[in-house]
Amino acid sequence: MSYVKVNQFAKSFGDVDVFKDIDFSIEKGEFITLLGPSGCGKSTLLRCIAGLDNVDLGTLLVEGENITDLAPQQREIGMVFQSYALFPNMTVEDNVAFGLKMNGFSKSKSRLEAKKMIDLVELAGKEKFYPRELSGGQRQRVALARALVVRPRILLLDEPLSALDAKIRKSLRQQILNIQKELNLTTIFVTHDQEEAMLLSDRIFLMSKGSIVQQGKPEDIYTKPANEFVASFMGHYN
Ligand code: ADP
Ligand code: MG
Repeated sequence: MSYVKVNQFAKSFGDVDVFKDIDFSIEKGEFITLLGPSGCGKSTLLRCIAGLDNVDLGTLLVEGENITDLAPQQREIGMVFQSYALFPNMTVEDNVAFGLKMNGFSKSKSRLEAKKMIDLVELAGKEKFYPRELSGGQRQRVALARALVVRPRILLLDEPLSALDAKIRKSLRQQILNIQKELNLTTIFVTHDQEEAMLLSDRIFLMSKGSIVQQGKPEDIYTKPANEFVASFMGHYN
């Protein structure tokens, strides 16, 4: 049995099909990149996995449990967005502890767990800072700590590096990978950047116009593209 299983996911907004016939399985600890051009449905698919949007059809199983209809906070899924989405009027510590307090943890337990995650993302010493006092890369590390503090079964990352400049992007990319390996976190990372996908992923799910057109190891997608779209998107021209 796979750790995560998506069966026949479909979603439309009005007359527009955003995605359909989405099927995949993910093993515990795998780093999956959902790769594809802008507008192909990546963010909506991620939001449906997180429960922030509802699918019209299909099921999501985690460890065999059907969580398709659970509220987001009941799913044990963490998500990081491109635009940080931190609370501007809360300190780093309070931003990170927020999810725990919502789940009824005591103040002292929340603070302790938050501190562990702040250390993990290498922001020790910044606990009392506000988001506006941090760089983009630091803010994104706060967002990562906030997603991890509830010990999610799945981590979803929606273009978390896109707003950052090249140098920060590389170092945060490596940091995400290190943490993912250390925690053996089952991760779905969304990007439109082939290089990121090639460097980070155990497997790539390549998406086009609402369908996953190929799933496989980076080298297989690159050397054995399933069709012309994959070939040209990955940089081959036949
Ligand atoms: P990606 O993340 O790959 O760029 P999105 O999931 O954001 O793609 O969007 C996929 C398609 O769904 C786009 O055509 C977009 O305009 C449409 N879409 C996304 N969210 C909504 C919404 N809330 N209402 C209507 N259309 C939407
Ligand atoms: Mg998107």
